[in-house]
Amino acid sequence: MRWGAVLVLFLFAALIPPLAGLNENLNPDASSRFQIFLATSALVLALWAISYNLMLGYTGMVSFAHAAYYGVGAYTVALIFKRYHLPILVGLAAAPFAAAAVGVVTGLVAQRAVRLYFSLLTLAISQLLFSLAFTWYDFTGGDNGISVTVPDQLSDYTTLYYFTAAVVGVCLLLMFLLVRSPFGAALLSIRENRQRAAAIGINVKVYELAIYTIASLFAGVAGGLFMLYQQQAYPEMLYWTANAQPVVVSLLGGTGTFLGPAVGAFIYVVLDNAVSKQFPYQFDIILGAIVLGVVLAVPGGISDAPTVFLRLRERFHRGEKAEAAPAESAGEAIRMFDVRKALATDAIQAEEVHPGQTLLQIEHLSRRFGGLRAVEDVSLEVKQGDRHAIIGPNGAGKSTLFNLITGQLKPTSGAVKFDGRDITGKPPHVIARTGIGRAFQITTIFPKLTVRQNLQFAMLAHAGYTVRPFGLASRIFSAEAQELAEAVGLGAWAELPAGQLSHGDQRAIEIAISLALGSKLVLLDEPTAGMSAYETDKAMELVRRLATERHLTLLFCEHDMSVVFSTARTVTVMHQGRVLTEGTPEQIRHDPDVQKVYLGELEQEELGA
Ligand code: ADP
Ligand code: MG
Repeated sequence: MRWGAVLVLFLFAALIPPLAGLNENLNPDASSRFQIFLATSALVLALWAISYNLMLGYTGMVSFAHAAYYGVGAYTVALIFKRYHLPILVGLAAAPFAAAAVGVVTGLVAQRAVRLYFSLLTLAISQLLFSLAFTWYDFTGGDNGISVTVPDQLSDYTTLYYFTAAVVGVCLLLMFLLVRSPFGAALLSIRENRQRAAAIGINVKVYELAIYTIASLFAGVAGGLFMLYQQQAYPEMLYWTANAQPVVVSLLGGTGTFLGPAVGAFIYVVLDNAVSKQFPYQFDIILGAIVLGVVLAVPGGISDAPTVFLRLRERFHRGEKAEAAPAESAGEAIRMFDVRKALATDAIQAEEVHPGQTLLQIEHLSRRFGGLRAVEDVSLEVKQGDRHAIIGPNGAGKSTLFNLITGQLKPTSGAVKFDGRDITGKPPHVIARTGIGRAFQITTIFPKLTVRQNLQFAMLAHAGYTVRPFGLASRIFSAEAQELAEAVGLGAWAELPAGQLSHGDQRAIEIAISLALGSKLVLLDEPTAGMSAYETDKAMELVRRLATERHLTLLFCEHDMSVVFSTARTVTVMHQGRVLTEGTPEQIRHDPDVQKVYLGELEQEELGA
């Protein structure tokens, strides 16, 4: 059905010139040249908006500098033709590279910050480039811009339209292949959850810079094509408010689908033309109202309307047999962790282990937050094959210690050695690749991706495939991911968005991601927090079984003492950032100091309550 829609769009694009001619014959007021001109502008806008959506929709970056790269593309074509008297096609070939060059340099600067601050930096970059175009009178023509008379071969409207359509078509195909490739999978995982993306070994900043540059490259093509049909380049193209156009078009058509912005571009051009004729000064108001209405009614954009319609219809039908629904969710809780299934399959074999050797060594590790010593002079050894628990009251420094081990935080002093390598202060994606997997205190998965994709993307990242801008990501490791989902008892939910699963199931996904990464050491930060007693038992049973089957070494911190004593073989007690004592569960259970620490906490809790 989706391919059917693509075919319809393609045919429609191919038939526009003859249709416009037909329209002119029937209705002498309608100029076919003007219709074709509008269609050309819609194609260029579609290309520009889809390139913007590579960032917005696929990576979650909001840039205010994208119009500047579009402008650079247009100026490149105009300057090469007019100042250097080279053929227009030379300019068109150079435009993407000029835009990408400006994109990569300015992108590096913008990347000094993330999220909102990234956006603000792109705004500053945009203003800078605009000012350059505006004031460098001798080179860019200043506020007049540059006008060009396009040579004969391309001055005919229909020829220009087909030429534009061909260039846009090739660009869309390239971008489409890109977003479906393993590289595209890395982008999606960054959009979904930066922290998790880093924890599966993806170098988030490098991928963001890459897509930023690629997006500016295609914006350069769009800008070059704009110059061809408008026959001019002017500084306002680079002005930061110009970015509203691709954003509005993307929102209108839908940021969640590849061709959404193209649909949005077409609607935008038609609207612009229809409304501007009647109300030349009110277009922005009317457009604003329409976009607002679309975003509120169909958050996924107009291209998502059929899905929304289907969902509404389904809801309508389900209303008639509402009785059946609750039973289903009750069954879900009981089938949550199918441990027998977990026993039956063995998707990825861990390497042979040598029990007793030191796998993780922490030496005099400290971390301060201002005056607060969150972790103070902690030394600790985790042996291969061990199940090592860290316990201690709230605020003892357990999560901070984990963050120091996996690179989310850098230590003030001390060292962390893993598997014979010094990993002190290394970034999370590097540490993930050395073989340390992690479940965070607050579950950190890719909520909108399916359970299978969560595992599959981790496998892709682990295998180093995410650098590939070609190939179909969905085909690689699909079976392995399914198998692993089954191993943790989630096989039946493999195609559901991970965020829709119960809390306990999401915990299981997080652990399975570590398995997908082939981690030797798995860190679990309060794996059973927020679980019912039943869920806790099942979850820990799964953890123990997986650890045994796959020869994992576990390092976990946990509040629930029954969990600690049923699972741990070694226990380290932390208190106020320091190691209080260490021993077997039996020793710890009878240690008077430990009892004091916990009693102290108990008293406080009682007072608080
Ligand atoms: P635990 O996980 O054992 O409950 P944490 O490691 O989360 O403890 O916290 C240890 C101490 O460090 C707490 O007092 C906490 O408030 C403080 N802390 C943790 N993270 C930060 C931070 N990013 N900035 C400032 N203080 C922090
Ligand atoms: Mg904690």
